[in-house]
Amino acid sequence: MTSRCLHVDMLVCWLAVAILAGCASPGVGGTKGPDAIGSGAYLLRGTFAANRQPDGNTVLLEGRTGLIVFDTGRHPEQAEKIAAFARSRNRPVLAIFNSHWHLDHISGNIPLKATWPYAKVYSNDPALSEALRTFLAQGAEFNRKRLADPDTPADQREDARIDLATVEQGRMLHPDISLERDQVLMIDGRRLEVHTAAGASAGDVWIYDPRARLVAAGDLITLPAPFLDTACPAKWTAALGDVLAVPFERVAPGHGRIMTRGDVERYRDAFDALIVCARGDLSAETCAGAWADAASPLQDAPSGDRAAAARYAAYYVTEILRKPSRRADCGG
Ligand SMILES: [Zn+2]
Repeated sequence: MTSRCLHVDMLVCWLAVAILAGCASPGVGGTKGPDAIGSGAYLLRGTFAANRQPDGNTVLLEGRTGLIVFDTGRHPEQAEKIAAFARSRNRPVLAIFNSHWHLDHISGNIPLKATWPYAKVYSNDPALSEALRTFLAQGAEFNRKRLADPDTPADQREDARIDLATVEQGRMLHPDISLERDQVLMIDGRRLEVHTAAGASAGDVWIYDPRARLVAAGDLITLPAPFLDTACPAKWTAALGDVLAVPFERVAPGHGRIMTRGDVERYRDAFDALIVCARGDLSAETCAGAWADAASPLQDAPSGDRAAAARYAAYYVTEILRKPSRRADCGG
């Protein structure tokens, strides 16, 4: 592990992810198009590559005439793949859901809305607005400094430019429809059970699609480890229980491969064990090693290896879960 991997002066998750992902090896993911994962449902894997910030997964659902997009990634390539898929299926993008406001899940909204201006965006607007005032504003300031620093490596400069441009156009990220309670929506003939939570962020959205028996979970389920920077662990584990209460066959996580019910149960148990371990006296490395072992059957190459899982988990135990000032005050 290099000293860069141990750098802890990080404001928010995407910065932590950037630094930690910079230590991932080798860079993988994101080279192919979407995979069919159920009736009219497809998964476009996000990238998790060395020296580059990640993209979240995108779930694509076909309606009667158009396409429903769940999360839009960070890098322009992900939005281009979404657009290419829509064109190849001759289906305009009619609706965009954002699981939460992290930039690896919402940045592609801007180019997709430019191409399909009538697409309706669904997300939690109060959480996004708060993030634009706080975390995202701080992240933009951090990125301005990185761009002004001649020592910033070219690959990090590229990501800093992308994120800064997204936040500077932040008003274009606001949803047309704010999701702040559970509800059933019929969009383009497709029935979606929309759920809200406050686990990975203050405004999580996840959906159950009965036609494909599919849950699109966003970062409530994420590998190589749960990204806890803006999290409320107690509400997060409750949300995992809510996911398990719906009759899904498959879950598309925010990062990682498609999961079965057994996989999600394993994830929930490992998540709970990590939180309990962080509250105790064992070393961060021990807690992180237990996470990495428990989660190893869930990992595949594009979501990182065991070493990445342990590195992320150790970071979150040390820098978030054991630092009261950094923990989200969620009453949990
Ligand atoms: Zn993410």
